[in-house]
Amino acid sequence: ESALAQNDPKIYFLIKKEAQRQKQNLELIASENFTSPAVMEAQGSCLTNKYAEGYPGRRWYGGCENVDEIESLAIERAKELFKAEYVNVQPHSGSQANMAVYFAMLKPFDTIMSMDLSHGGHLTHGFKMNFSGKFFHVFHYGVSPKDERIDYDSLEAAVREHKPKMLIAGASAYPVIIDFPRLKSIADSVGAYLMVDMAHIAGLVATGLHPSPIPYADFVTTTTHKTLRGPRGGVIFAKAKYGKEIDSQVFPGIQGGPLVHVIAAKAVCFHEALQESFIEYQKQVIKNAKALAEGLKKNGYRLVSGGTENHLILVDLRPLGITGKEAQDILDSVGITVNKNTIPFDTVPPYQGGGIRIGSPAVTTRGMKENEMFDIAEWIHQALMHRKDPKTLEKIRQSVLELTSRFPLSFDK
Ligand code: PLP
Repeated sequence: ESALAQNDPKIYFLIKKEAQRQKQNLELIASENFTSPAVMEAQGSCLTNKYAEGYPGRRWYGGCENVDEIESLAIERAKELFKAEYVNVQPHSGSQANMAVYFAMLKPFDTIMSMDLSHGGHLTHGFKMNFSGKFFHVFHYGVSPKDERIDYDSLEAAVREHKPKMLIAGASAYPVIIDFPRLKSIADSVGAYLMVDMAHIAGLVATGLHPSPIPYADFVTTTTHKTLRGPRGGVIFAKAKYGKEIDSQVFPGIQGGPLVHVIAAKAVCFHEALQESFIEYQKQVIKNAKALAEGLKKNGYRLVSGGTENHLILVDLRPLGITGKEAQDILDSVGITVNKNTIPFDTVPPYQGGGIRIGSPAVTTRGMKENEMFDIAEWIHQALMHRKDPKTLEKIRQSVLELTSRFPLSFDK
């Protein structure tokens, strides 16, 4: 019998319900994925009991001989996977990874420049309600209204005008490949640091399916739980010369004890990502995103930038007269999980959003391929078209249940 079921039936029951939701629904949130049972086992291990402030061989607590080896393995594997000179695997999240880099290299009110949130950037890249927007002087760049791709010429002009101390690249909702060599030469032209937050595309970068920022950027941050398919957490890569500053900014700068259970799970994730099968997985992630794009375009949907070069697409729903929020709710009702999103130059308020973001990493982990993507695109279309028709919605719900039962997930809690 489950200890959790005995000690805390309420939480046990809710976790069971969540496991069922994950199994029965189609997970299309571009930042989500399903970790392997091995990652979950490491994360759910006795390592959660251990304090290990400091770094391998330099801890403030006794009894760290095993966790030292675990963290060292995580570091070695991450270096091998991304061909990096320096790695810190301790950040609790992507936000903390970014915070550590900023606080290590910048002073309060220094100027930073990053992609506009409403064009696909992230909160931690200078949004006014985020710490990054409060501590620093922020200018944004964005995509061109012509092709909805980063406008590198006006980015360059803005960098020359504002002379940021750090240029930040990387995005949460940008379906196009990012030009890191160009960004590096722009940053160099004003002596700015270049930081790339590759959280969304890390799995593609690890397998060479998106160009790597590692050779160009001074700092590269990532989460481990998106395309990389590991536990929820953050990692920092940097040129070796910045290693000492980053280490001491992570601990004791912004964190206390590392989450050793999560670090072990990160190590397992890197090990899995080094296998041949991971390359096949990432190739399919891209093929599936393209198939979803094709299926939607066939039904007349307008996709931001015209399609996708990575794991996600952004669908502009304004021509249909429905908001992203409405679409998210309709799709939720048939078991298709997406998130509302702003569209570049949106005319709909951000809480509603002019569109939805759709990603292929999680359904690809379940083993689905292009044919399933075409079905899913069709169901999305049908659900949005017949949003006021409960019978059609129920039929789609049944199709979703039938499909998800053919691609089972192995966990039950
Ligand atoms: N950076 C980017 C580009 C992201 O998309 C995200 C997550 O949405 C983060 C950072 C933040 O990661 P976390 O949610 O782990 O703080």
